[in-house]
Amino acid sequence: MEFITQPARKIKVIFKTQLCVLGGSQTGVFAAVRAARLGTECAVVEQGGCFGGVATAGMVNCLHTLLDDRFENQIIGGLTDEILKIMRKNGDAISYDKNRSVGFKINSQILKILLDRYVTQHKIKPFLHTKVCDGIVENGVLRGVVVETVEGPGVILADAFIDATGDAILCDRLGLITYKQSPMQPPTACSVVYRFDRSRTLEFRKLWEEHSAEFDMEPDWGWSGEIPGCDDLSMLAENHIFNCDCSKTDDLTKAEMEGRRKTYALLQILRKYADNSDVKIAAMCDYVGVRQTRQVKCLHKVTMKELLTGEHFADAVLNGTYRVDVHHEGQGISFYYLDGTKEVYSDRIHQTVTRWADADYQGKLFYQMPYRSMVPDCSFDNLLIAGRCIDADNGAFGALRVMVNTNQMGEAAGVAAHIMLDQKCAAKDVPPKKLRELLQQGGSIVL
Ligand SMILES: Cc1cc2nc3c(=O)[nH]c(=O)nc-3n(C[C@H](O)[C@H](O)[C@H](O)COP(=O)(O)OP(=O)(O)OC[C@H]3O[C@@H](n4cnc5c(N)ncnc54)[C@H](O)[C@@H]3O)c2cc1C
Repeated sequence: MEFITQPARKIKVIFKTQLCVLGGSQTGVFAAVRAARLGTECAVVEQGGCFGGVATAGMVNCLHTLLDDRFENQIIGGLTDEILKIMRKNGDAISYDKNRSVGFKINSQILKILLDRYVTQHKIKPFLHTKVCDGIVENGVLRGVVVETVEGPGVILADAFIDATGDAILCDRLGLITYKQSPMQPPTACSVVYRFDRSRTLEFRKLWEEHSAEFDMEPDWGWSGEIPGCDDLSMLAENHIFNCDCSKTDDLTKAEMEGRRKTYALLQILRKYADNSDVKIAAMCDYVGVRQTRQVKCLHKVTMKELLTGEHFADAVLNGTYRVDVHHEGQGISFYYLDGTKEVYSDRIHQTVTRWADADYQGKLFYQMPYRSMVPDCSFDNLLIAGRCIDADNGAFGALRVMVNTNQMGEAAGVAAHIMLDQKCAAKDVPPKKLRELLQQGGSIVL
């Protein structure tokens, strides 16, 4: 490999704050909002032109239930509940009753606007089109991050940091212990299409199944659905781009281009083979939907067994019911539920239902995730992670990676960062009791 040595350069300090959140999906914005509500000065740094990450730039408009596995009691509150209530009031979100696949459908474009408003109202310093490139370490202490802005490089100094970049960009650049699971869940390019007759979805899936090879596509699996308030439009997530590690430049580039090609090919199949179908692309995602890349070694790795057996933790900061949901590399998807059932889709049509637990297993109402799974195992005392780079085995990751969960991680990281700064303690020494108290006082459901 060839290298070039750059001369040492001075980089302007462009901002100083108490808490710098890296990555501005709901995870990152919710972290900053919760910290700001407790009086912490915050900045959020986002490489794209809007907040919301996969939910906005990636067009994923489905959130899962906030209720326990029997749909009886609410187990998730906080900012997810707060923002969904605002959206539902205005018809920008709709809820589904007792549905394990869909809890809510939202209008992703409205979410962008609401997140802007949350950032402004909480006096959080926003940086859009600003990419985190590196960390600044002085005498073993993490002091800042190097960012690339439209004006050139700059440094943001802060007392604490939350890496919510999904890909654990800061942790990687700092040389922390990270890992990639094999296989990783493949990415999907989502789109919004016009005149997709959703009552014919099964018929369309059969056509995709039959004619994919003609359009150079592997057998696949996917989902699609409505967009609140936009009757003629549908959201499509009906493709996967296989054999891609989206933390690698070439693979991410391939994922973007293949994702667009496959989206178009699916519509071409409908135009060619479906009677009276005049479906058109209205919009494609700004960023391919990345499910999984690197994860960070933390003080605790969550396991699928812990989740499925509903293990409780003294430092629990998240409650969830969303199933273990693993999109396979190659083809198909597996779901493991808290009640002991297992579903496998081998392709777009065929499903088998079995059990992962004995027939007499009673099942659990919800699972939890401990705070320790967001504290990197490293020498930096002022760094937390939140979002899909969480320390979890492949099964647990399959459940924790969805937004009702990653949002809770963001909120917990924001509150924990506030405590770190207020009590001048290290991330690993944040008292769980205090953390859970403040989370509850701020609207989270703590069980
Ligand atoms: C196709 C698809 C379908 C899905 N379906 C569902 C679903 O139905 N329901 C559900 O709840 N979840 C679903 N998920 C999962 C869920 O959307 C994501 O796992 C979750 O949103 C991850 O959140 P995150 O904040 O960790 O990551 P992301 O949403 O990826 O956010 C990371 C943010 O950091 C920014 N960033 C990255 N690098 C940098 C950098 N260097 N500098 C500055 N900013 C940076 C990114 O631009 C992004 O805004 C789906 C995911 C995909 C891909």
